[in-house]
Amino acid sequence: MSVPRDHPRYHSLMQREKLARGYEQGITVIEGLIAHGRGEAFDYLIGEATAEPAKRAIRAAAATLLLASMPVISVNGNTAALCPAQLVHLARVANAKLEVNLFYRSRERARRIAAVLKQAGAEEVLGVEPEAEIPNLSSERRLVAKRGIYSADVVLLAIEDGDRTEALVEMGKRVIAIDLNPLSRTAQRASITIVDEVTRALPLLTQEVEKLRGLSKAQLEELASFDNRANLKAMLRHITQRLSELEP
Ligand code: ATP
Repeated sequence: MSVPRDHPRYHSLMQREKLARGYEQGITVIEGLIAHGRGEAFDYLIGEATAEPAKRAIRAAAATLLLASMPVISVNGNTAALCPAQLVHLARVANAKLEVNLFYRSRERARRIAAVLKQAGAEEVLGVEPEAEIPNLSSERRLVAKRGIYSADVVLLAIEDGDRTEALVEMGKRVIAIDLNPLSRTAQRASITIVDEVTRALPLLTQEVEKLRGLSKAQLEELASFDNRANLKAMLRHITQRLSELEP
């Protein structure tokens, strides 16, 4: 199917097409398509634009990435289908590693996702042959690379389930989550939650990392200190306000 450029929902339909193609290529799973639908519903409520609280979270996330000694970007089937080049670009700018991590894991799917990232310019992709485990996690997402997520001090993830976010936080890592649902367990448990659509948030985050690069450690530390709970409340207020303005 080709989406007409003048369609009012062109961007949203293109996203769906990318995911459908990802599904056909064995990159995205059918459950991932459902997860995307949940995200789309929240994006309507948010206004399909990056809200102020999300911008504040992006600034804190950029400072956190710059302060990290070993940042890792976790990639799943949805993000690999939607935005491989954006993930690779952020990894390069933030000096972060890329690691495949899947809930519905198969070696073949992990290998395909790694190939997509390499095609988008990644030199190295971890997680195809994971040799370590996240403690207290039973899903396949517990399988991680020893010199990747297992050893990372900062992990950036998107479109993720709450169990692993919680397990990573319990391991003492700072977790940056991109999630359209401010009420999800991931959003609630992460250290910094960017409540925004992943393909909107990633370029903004990359720009912010470039912008903050010259700051001192003390300045970065000030920007990285972040009250996630207060920011999520601000995001919920943003949604409530929008809904009350839209009321007939
Ligand atoms: P949790 O376990 O954290 O409560 P969940 O059960 O909703 O989350 P999933 O089903 O894995 O977990 O959902 C993935 C999350 O990703 C959802 O909160 C959804 O809103 C969000 N999401 C889906 N698509 C996007 C997207 N394109 N950008 C950002 N977030 C998205």
